[in-house]
Amino acid sequence: MTTTDLTAFRELLTMKRAELSGSRGLEKLAIERSVDLLEEVLYKSERELAIAGLNRESAIRRNIELALIRIKGHSFGACVHCDEEIGRRRLQQRNEFATHCAHTW
Ligand SMILES: [Zn+2]
Repeated sequence: MTTTDLTAFRELLTMKRAELSGSRGLEKLAIERSVDLLEEVLYKSERELAIAGLNRESAIRRNIELALIRIKGHSFGACVHCDEEIGRRRLQQRNEFATHCAHTW
């Protein structure tokens, strides 16, 4: 992995992090009440969807932070299992968060 590659990945990751909505979506978690049972069910499933979205987003955020730490520590692009080079193509295909080489999986 060259310095240029690392810089490109770092920029991509930083961009992705900026794209995450942050705390937006939290308002959807407010518990709304209705006398209408059907509406209650609808509110509940909307809340569950919002929670799933937030969970997914926080997982992405964590992956981005970890990848940035790995870039800083010069271990980005190396398999965490066998230390083998993961390769640009695999990193890009399996998204830039790939932490294992093709041999491990
Ligand atoms: Zn490996």
